[in-house]
Amino acid sequence: MNHIPEIELQSGDAIRTLQEAKLKHTLDYIFQHSPYYKNLFSKHGILRDAVAKIEDLSKLPVTTKNDLQENNWDFLCVPKREIVEYTSTSGTLGRPVTIALTEKDLQRLAYNECISFACADGHQDDLYQLMLTLDRQFMAGIAYYEGIRKLGAGLIRVGPGLPALQWETINRLKPTVLVAVPSFIIKLIEFAKEQGIDLNKSSVKKAVCIGESLRDDNLQLNTLGKKIAESWNIQLYSTYASTEMQTAFTECAHGSGGHQHPELIIVELLDEQNKPVASGSVGEVTVTTLGVEGMPLVRYKTGDMARAHEKPCACGRNTLRLGPVLGRHQQMIKLKGTTLYPPGIFDILNQFHEVKEYVVEAYTGELGTDELKVHLFTDGDLKSVEEMLKAAFQSRLRVVPFFEFNSGDEIEKLQASGKSRKIKKFLDNRQ
Ligand SMILES: [Zn+2]
Repeated sequence: MNHIPEIELQSGDAIRTLQEAKLKHTLDYIFQHSPYYKNLFSKHGILRDAVAKIEDLSKLPVTTKNDLQENNWDFLCVPKREIVEYTSTSGTLGRPVTIALTEKDLQRLAYNECISFACADGHQDDLYQLMLTLDRQFMAGIAYYEGIRKLGAGLIRVGPGLPALQWETINRLKPTVLVAVPSFIIKLIEFAKEQGIDLNKSSVKKAVCIGESLRDDNLQLNTLGKKIAESWNIQLYSTYASTEMQTAFTECAHGSGGHQHPELIIVELLDEQNKPVASGSVGEVTVTTLGVEGMPLVRYKTGDMARAHEKPCACGRNTLRLGPVLGRHQQMIKLKGTTLYPPGIFDILNQFHEVKEYVVEAYTGELGTDELKVHLFTDGDLKSVEEMLKAAFQSRLRVVPFFEFNSGDEIEKLQASGKSRKIKKFLDNRQ
């Protein structure tokens, strides 16, 4: 069975026509059923016929995570008895948001994940090993589960962590695809090396990587991606998704950004003034969900900064592709005129085995501008490590932060500072 939707192979014009028809349907539904949007649109004097084309979306106000937190249940378009599943955002920043799904939404989610796995060369003969949680209101877990079932493939639910159990299962059941966080795949590789397991003789051929990106802004493998590829000859697929959008952007084998599924979502990349950025520029990923029944969203600003790639892909799909998330909007750092995000900085630091631990600190300089300091612990020669880092920052980012060498204990204290119990690699001390 072929799981590539026809529309993805059609022309840009055909995709736009389909999206505008779906958008019309979505807005008709929202104007009728969404308490939040009815109120918002009436406050702004927006009439139903204001939006016909995708460009017209810019006439509508955006929705932020804060709006969703403050008015969570006003987004619900159906009576509560029609909710079949309550999922929630992880709540790493602020209060978690509940996203409620109807039966139809669950089916949409399964369809979304099925065509996403198909995009990542998934086939009904594949056997997937899921190395992630299926509980704790985690939407992605059920999405993968249902998507794989719809694809007609087999699956094994091992859950997160436990490299020994993962390997025991790989050896016993011979999965062909892993679904995992890439930094956990590094742990699997380390475990295999310690135990003398020959990685390239295992049954695993592919890994669908979730949660963290494998690529840099040029769509080349980043340090994390390279570390996996160096040791393990498997095909890697990066994905991007969030609970709020109930839709995934998954790479094909050409690894040139996550493919948009045009029948499920409209994407805009917006600037600070909520205007679309120039084609190919970095903007905030802003989505309008299509076909969602429970809690549809219009122009929802995800906070994720990325670049869109619009040229047709070598796989034959003409859909837009999203490059890796370069960082969160609120973590944007303007250093001497250059825009940076913490993940890009981490990626450079991760490249050097001499850098044992680090914390990146942004703060406000005397002139009110952003400044950047990297606190780090190294077992190498301080002078040569600093020279090496300066050269790497200069060539990759064109700007060089300050470096401060600390002991391992000092770095540990910095990483544990702040309210969150999670280890922090980025400290934002800007005013
Ligand atoms: Zn492609």
